[in-house]
Amino acid sequence: PGRLQYKAALVTGAASGIGLESAILFALEGANVLLVDINEKAVEDAAVKLAKTTPNVKVLATKADVSKEADIKAAVDKAVAEFGRLDVMFNNAGIMHPADDNALNTEERIWDMTMQVNLKGVWWGCKYAILAMRSNPVDEAKVLHTGGSIINTASFVAIMGAATPQLAYTASKGAVLAMTRELAMVHAREGIRLNSICPGPLKTPLLMDFLNTPEKRDRRLVHLPMGRFGEAVELAKGALFLASDESSYVTGTDFKVDGGLSSC
Ligand code: NAD
Repeated sequence: PGRLQYKAALVTGAASGIGLESAILFALEGANVLLVDINEKAVEDAAVKLAKTTPNVKVLATKADVSKEADIKAAVDKAVAEFGRLDVMFNNAGIMHPADDNALNTEERIWDMTMQVNLKGVWWGCKYAILAMRSNPVDEAKVLHTGGSIINTASFVAIMGAATPQLAYTASKGAVLAMTRELAMVHAREGIRLNSICPGPLKTPLLMDFLNTPEKRDRRLVHLPMGRFGEAVELAKGALFLASDESSYVTGTDFKVDGGLSSC
């Protein structure tokens, strides 16, 4: 049996990168999955493609902007309506302003937009997921644990800062770590686990749009302990561990999947 068999999962930012690879892996491991993204066409195409390779589970898509509370609520409601429950919430959608933004030149507009998506969006994702998980039907067969697993995507920069500053981004991700730890304590006795996942630099559009010349990429590569960027699927494998019952005693952690970067 798959590691997420009988579970229902919602993944945000699921049209690309980490979110897409995680949605694929979750479905392959037996979960019904709702892919959520602001990019409607891309997320629907991704779900149709994935559904063809995973006929034993339900794979659906919905458009939502995580910076809007009503959108997140509607997405969670849809998952519960379609799957009857919610076991895994992966608050993964995030944005990074592709510029060197420091204390002196970050525009307030960029700060607010980044916080709105990366932090407030994660808060709302947690809020509606917790409410849904609390209402999960009792599983008579005792196949499923009560409660659920919420995973929030932070970043290595939340631990060590970024060599090329992205101030609002770094601040938003640090706040995700703090918020997740607190929620983990508050909801531990309900069986709802909350963990952050901290990716290192990955070969996804988010980072590659920022490191948009071979010179910029080479300069970054020199600082990576493994001498390479990570792949989105390597992150997805970490998210799968946190989503599954294999991590049943893991909550409130900053789970680093960064090729050792934040330890050097
Ligand atoms: P990506 O750009 O490949 O994918 C991000 C997805 O999020 C896109 O499909 C985009 O449409 C969606 N999205 C953006 N804003 C949204 C919104 N308001 N509502 C709903 N969906 C929205 O990026 P990725 O690298 O897979 O990033 C995923 C997460 O990982 C982000 O939170 C990012 O900050 C984090 N992260 C990435 C790296 C990296 O090196 N790629 C490193 C550390 C952390």
